[in-house]
Amino acid sequence: MISALSRATSRHRVTGTAGGLVDVATAVSTSVAAALAAKHPGGPLPMGRPGEVLDAAMRALGPAVLPELGIGTDQALSRIASVLVEHGMDPASPMAAAHLQPPPLAVAVAADTLASAANSSLDTYDSGPAGIAMERWVVHVLAGLAGLPAGADGVFTPGGSLSNLTALLLARDSTAARLGIDVRSDGVGALERPVVLCSELAHFSVHRACAALGLGEAAVRMVPVDGRRRMRVAAAEQLLAGGGTPIAIFATAGTTDFGSVDPLPELADLAADTGTWLHVDAAYGFGALFCDQLAAKVSGIRHADSITVDLHKIGWQPAAASALLVRDPTAFGALDRQVAYLNPADDVTAGYDGRLGMSLQTTRRADAVKVAATLLAHGRRGLGGMLQACHDLAVYAQHRITMDERLELVAPAELTTVVFRYRTRDPALANAVNAALRRRLMASGRALVGRTDVGVPASTCLKCTLLNPNATTVDIDALVDAVLDAGSTSEEALTTGACISAEATDNTADACISAEAADNRASAEAAS
Ligand SMILES: *Cc1c(COP(=O)(O)O)cnc(C)c1O
Repeated sequence: MISALSRATSRHRVTGTAGGLVDVATAVSTSVAAALAAKHPGGPLPMGRPGEVLDAAMRALGPAVLPELGIGTDQALSRIASVLVEHGMDPASPMAAAHLQPPPLAVAVAADTLASAANSSLDTYDSGPAGIAMERWVVHVLAGLAGLPAGADGVFTPGGSLSNLTALLLARDSTAARLGIDVRSDGVGALERPVVLCSELAHFSVHRACAALGLGEAAVRMVPVDGRRRMRVAAAEQLLAGGGTPIAIFATAGTTDFGSVDPLPELADLAADTGTWLHVDAAYGFGALFCDQLAAKVSGIRHADSITVDLHKIGWQPAAASALLVRDPTAFGALDRQVAYLNPADDVTAGYDGRLGMSLQTTRRADAVKVAATLLAHGRRGLGGMLQACHDLAVYAQHRITMDERLELVAPAELTTVVFRYRTRDPALANAVNAALRRRLMASGRALVGRTDVGVPASTCLKCTLLNPNATTVDIDALVDAVLDAGSTSEEALTTGACISAEATDNTADACISAEAADNRASAEAAS
């Protein structure tokens, strides 16, 4: 009696698919209240230098030792919520335009919480049939949208980099199998001079994947791009004819910086003619399919053998929400695995099978749950409208940049990015000023723009990555104004070396930022 009672009063607050969710809802309300009460920095990032910001965030958590006694759910969550608000990056700020990192949709965040509570895993049937069904459902929806045949399948991964790696693994092993080579047991030694073709603007994850897969980074042949930053097909053809074992043509639908799309129909022909696997890295560009006006940009994607889709970019999902879609699901045989404690043969025969054999992971969280909720809630039109809004903002930013003689447009808006530069009076200072002005904006917390290199020799450029469908042209104007302000201050600092604490020319602008941030903080503290 007594022990039953003490057990009842000391029950731990766990959750699941139903009952325990009440506790989750209460905890979420507590954290929301704490987040709303916390001091929002006002801009997308807290003011200050990285060391100061990180130190302050760690101090706010408390001493970095495991506390002997916990402070309880409410207090812990309140503390966490305020650390996230006061020392984090706010993806919903219309002045956050650095990366392909959207403000996530509320429906997706809520569904992700439900997925966490259900804690299902995709590897075995008994770890959560609903999660398995939702992944299958989402993958079929996405494959259908891409125009892949009905038999296509796919799998969620922890990101576009891992989707690309998985695609190249399937391409490697299916190519090897056709040559009578069993890479899985014998390794890649028997593959003679493997070749993976991609454009010079392809994502760096193709190099990493080739290194990890034993193909070697030397397998990557970078094909030059044309004036619109698309892979040159004739050059690809030549490289492919140059010998070696073609593993894949790795096309990009939406390069990370420019949103340019390789000529997919022509590359599909080249792949078909040479019997080469066609992978389309549509991590960024897949979302164009949601939008009537932009879908034509990725036409030809239906010819792919595999497609990478990042819905944590265009798709407004909290990361990770990446899928690899595969035309011929027998290619997943490369990952097939029979494990006594997970999928014994007689269980599989009886239908008690999970998706262990489609992934390099074992325990795998159900990232498709939030995507399913989003697709149901917003539909193609809803998502298409959001993309259209972001694209329109990019076109507006392009216009605004073109109209201002202090700025130089480097690449126009294909999808939702615009690449540009701040023009310096002394061209020799251009790289340093563009780099410094971006750091100045980060230190001020006022605005976030992206940075990249363009051309040879490299020009340091700035990039607006516009994925906030609620931002307006007024916000774009404010963003551009912030760049102009930071540009002229940085140029001034670099030209005159006016900052006392400067140690070297290269650090001048940064040193000035530091002094300025300290000033700003002092005046903010004085005001409050
Ligand atoms: C973002 C991106 C990736 C990598 O995706 P992660 O989810 O960041 O791993 C790969 N390819 C392209 C074209 C991308 O834009």
